[in-house]
Amino acid sequence: MSTYHLTVVSMDGQDFEGEVQKILLRTIDGDIEILARHTDYCTAIGMGTARVTMADGTERKAACIGGMISVMKGEVRVLPTTWEWSEDIDIERAKAAKERAEERLNDQLLDKEARIRAEAKLYRALVRLGSAHPDHSHDHINDQ
Ligand code: ATP
Repeated sequence: MSTYHLTVVSMDGQDFEGEVQKILLRTIDGDIEILARHTDYCTAIGMGTARVTMADGTERKAACIGGMISVMKGEVRVLPTTWEWSEDIDIERAKAAKERAEERLNDQLLDKEARIRAEAKLYRALVRLGSAHPDHSHDHINDQ
């Protein structure tokens, strides 16, 4: 299968650079899969599990939240707000974040802005749990 050059640079620094067969990720408009020779393109990233198929066919998963993806002259750049490879995700931290967010959302007096923030936090935690380990796949926001 043809490959192309992918770079992933998040706020934390460069997370990946190399040849890949494809990347699948969730944008604000839905899931996209970028293969070699994709037309030039740019959009905003949503929240979901990114799946990167390496040149040798192996797949790596990452929690990919916010930011932009661009395809320009065959070069694909992902600039996420946060990107955590599956093996780097702290599951206990994500579970704790999920519980805190759920607790907040149970508060009937929560104002609209705080509710939106808590919902976003809950989504991030669900994406992390869904990206971290196969055992948590039923929690995954992409499957809902
Ligand atoms: P928390 O309340 O646990 O900080 P959060 O959703 O508010 O969760 P973010 O603001 O999205 O966290 O992320 C802040 C930084 O912490 C980012 O660099 C992100 O990659 C990292 N991070 C957040 N949660 C995890 C996790 N469960 N495992 C690994 N890194 C994480």
